[in-house]
Amino acid sequence: MGLVSNSSVTASASSVGVLGGTFDPVHSGHLAIAEAVRNELGLDVVLFVVAADQWLRSVPPVASAAARFAMVERAVEDSAGLEASDVDIVRGGSTYTADTLVDLRERLVGATELHLIVGADSAMSMDRWKRADEIGSLARVVVVGRPGLEFDGRLAKSHPAEGAVYVEGPMVDVSATAIRDRVQAEKSITGLVPDSVADYIAANEFYR
Ligand code: ATP
Repeated sequence: MGLVSNSSVTASASSVGVLGGTFDPVHSGHLAIAEAVRNELGLDVVLFVVAADQWLRSVPPVASAAARFAMVERAVEDSAGLEASDVDIVRGGSTYTADTLVDLRERLVGATELHLIVGADSAMSMDRWKRADEIGSLARVVVVGRPGLEFDGRLAKSHPAEGAVYVEGPMVDVSATAIRDRVQAEKSITGLVPDSVADYIAANEFYR
């Protein structure tokens, strides 16, 4: 279940967006940017690739990889053209995007073009990613605007996001951190995550 190689959409897809993340939890900002980039670039599908372990983060994810994947599956189930991918979870260990892209290229049949979708905040830190210099030959980088973050494309020539395609996108001001904080403060998260994800968070008592 959820394996890219089992997917009917990705089996025939020739242009694939790759949105990697911790998704702790997945939220309406992720869904909005995926839809916006898919429409703007005419992609067949956007894969939400759930990280196993985010080595760059100072604090580990709250929810397990399996639970974060389950939330992503629920979030995309009604959206044609959005899919969950467990490629990083199956590989395990620290998640490096270069590995994600290599594995996806192996799994996706046909002449697949990969578009790595990153929010403006992630894009700025791409020069600290492991084996970032490999990314340019594996995928086209697409940077999406994020409220409060001015992305100026004037990056060093060696920066992995230099020359990236920029899509302003819907500018939805929501983060997983804000959602975790709201749950802990017993505030509503209605509208910030799909209802199916809010139900899953409540049922499993995450982020309290
Ligand atoms: P956290 O608050 O826990 O750091 P997050 O909301 O940034 O989480 P991630 O799973 O870390 O969510 O993000 C995955 C990808 O989605 C990253 O490239 C990130 O920049 C991007 N992203 C997340 N939320 C938004 C948003 N509201 N607008 C644009 N990009 C976003």
